[in-house]
Amino acid sequence: MLRIAVQAKGRLHEETMRLLEESDVKISLAKRTLLVQSSNFPLEVLFLRDDDIPQSVAAGVADLGIVGENEFVEKQEDAAIVKRLGFGRCRLSLAIPKNIEYTGLDWFEGKKIATSYPSILKDFMCRNGIHADIHVITGSVEVAPSIGLADSIFDIVSSGSTLVNNHLKEVEVVMESEAVLIANRGMTQENKSVLDELLFRMEAVKTAENKKYVLMNVPNDRLSEVVGILPGMKSPTVMPLAQEGWSSVHTVLDEERFWEIISQLKASGAQGILVLSIEKMIV
Ligand code: ATP
Ligand code: MG
Repeated sequence: MLRIAVQAKGRLHEETMRLLEESDVKISLAKRTLLVQSSNFPLEVLFLRDDDIPQSVAAGVADLGIVGENEFVEKQEDAAIVKRLGFGRCRLSLAIPKNIEYTGLDWFEGKKIATSYPSILKDFMCRNGIHADIHVITGSVEVAPSIGLADSIFDIVSSGSTLVNNHLKEVEVVMESEAVLIANRGMTQENKSVLDELLFRMEAVKTAENKKYVLMNVPNDRLSEVVGILPGMKSPTVMPLAQEGWSSVHTVLDEERFWEIISQLKASGAQGILVLSIEKMIV
């Protein structure tokens, strides 16, 4: 049985549970216990605070964990990153009061910086030869400058609205982060093969993301024009319709280019265009 540590509640919880669900790993959240076993996959889920996930994976209390890369790097625990998951994106940045002129990294020399990420910050300052006074606080870091607790902060930024609300400006991005799947380095062979199966499923979910299955009817005399518009390495499926002179064309499109391509298809005589979500895709 493979054990995965995930965030019990917070910003990564929902997306993590959705990833497991879309990978067809059923977890009943009804019981709300610390440890829940999947009903259809050899996996159990351990619900923890994100701070505790790196250590529990490194120590083997859990075989796997899903945690923000920022938290993983900060904790300096020994585990392997096996997959970057593409959600929970944010960055760790230095910010200073917005009305102060920023003169470059030297500005931080001798300054007091409030943060919940002291080891990442210490490492960054050390690499850049800056001596700053790092002040650790665990919550509401962004208010520290306005109450006189620090000159600046080092914290998570995603949209930047928290900084604006606290009259701060971002001056240096130190690290980009996203949720990562981490694994204990001493997993049994049996658990490794369960992990491979899980990774295979996660990959299929991820490949299908942002992709649409598109079907349309096309008059045969315009088929080559329509097929020419469709991107991709594989040629689309073309099947004759019962109605003489028409064909049905099936293909997979990237969501990003979708509207642009659909309008070209319409202009080329495609009709009855159906667009379907793809649940999983194995390439
Ligand atoms: P816990 O109670 O588990 O200790 P927490 O309060 O420490 O939770 P959250 O605020 O839930 O942590 O954030 C968890 C992770 O989500 C962060 O470490 C970071 O990787 C990611 N994240 C993504 N965007 C943001 C954001 N805008 N603000 C904070 N965290 C974000
Ligand atoms: Mg935490």
